[in-house]
Amino acid sequence: MIDSKNVKIPLKVNAIVTHAHSDHFAAMNSYSPTFATQATIDLFNNLKKTKTRSNFIPVEFNEQLKLQPDTPDVKISFIPSGHILGSASVIVENDNSRLLFSGDVGGKGQLTSLAPLKAVQADILVVEATFGSPELVFPSREEISMDILKWSANVIKENKNVLFSAGRLGSSQELIKLFNNLTNLNVVTHGEVTQLSEIYQKHGVKLAFHDSKSEEGKEILRNGEAIIIQPRGKKIVPYFITEHVECKTAIVTGMATRFQYRNYDASFPLSSHANFNELIDYIREVSPELVFTIYGLEKKLAEAISRELDIPAIPLKDKTPNAIQKTSEKIAAEQNIRKNLEREKIPLKKIESKVVSKEKKEITLDDFFKQDD
Ligand SMILES: [Zn+2]
Repeated sequence: MIDSKNVKIPLKVNAIVTHAHSDHFAAMNSYSPTFATQATIDLFNNLKKTKTRSNFIPVEFNEQLKLQPDTPDVKISFIPSGHILGSASVIVENDNSRLLFSGDVGGKGQLTSLAPLKAVQADILVVEATFGSPELVFPSREEISMDILKWSANVIKENKNVLFSAGRLGSSQELIKLFNNLTNLNVVTHGEVTQLSEIYQKHGVKLAFHDSKSEEGKEILRNGEAIIIQPRGKKIVPYFITEHVECKTAIVTGMATRFQYRNYDASFPLSSHANFNELIDYIREVSPELVFTIYGLEKKLAEAISRELDIPAIPLKDKTPNAIQKTSEKIAAEQNIRKNLEREKIPLKKIESKVVSKEKKEITLDDFFKQDD
């Protein structure tokens, strides 16, 4: 089971966790052999300190998972998904077909994920839909970075501190890296951001910051002109604001492209997720015959994939595991026919193009699935 969210994973079933955001490991138990990258395991162990037992098996990118018990017909491996440190997409394949489970995928210009998003061709794609609606397109990374730096510079000019509320795992590290690369301002981090950022450092991402409770951190806060980063969704830590110099606040979230946040002085759509256009480009590159959408705006993305890419797409939760299995078998059977036709040197392309164009005009998505029932 991969990233199971709503289904409790039965004891001792092989489990796969694509990355360390909590909605992707919610159903984990301590007994199932659970495959993840070493970075994901380290981040998970930090986030779940109370969990004393875990049965993780670390896996490198492109290494074949050793399932227990062994399933020689099915191969499973990780490729980078460019989202946060250690994040992976999962390839599940046999001789006939390949399924790609995207996990969360990163957009262009990420500074801290280490390995950029990789797309491979697959017959079936299960793709995330966090920003799966056409209005959720962000400005370019360069534009967002410029806006953040310009706004911060204006605040700093007044000898104030700048406080960002950002995703503690992903956006916070992107912000630290941005300020490290392009300014000489001191970055001060909330304890939760500090701990996760130290794991990034351990895995080779160069980040410079001071914990807000360290002596240097406290002094920087007192002097002003600091960049403070705290986890989004938490109340602003009072001593960041009241005990020292004045502070201006900004929220960092992809949803800032769509919503206004009145409790903050500014908002910026910096995100560890691909935006809508990047998701569509990714799906086009994978070039699947069938797409299931998962996490977020599943219905809107499925509609957009069918409309813009002419690929059958449906939210994963709308299909039962049995129907998915049948669809997968159907695709494998078609590939077998194709192989046989090739072997017997039947002019495949002419026949295929005729059939495909006729079918695409006449068959709706509903019909497509009815055929499986
Ligand atoms: Zn994520």
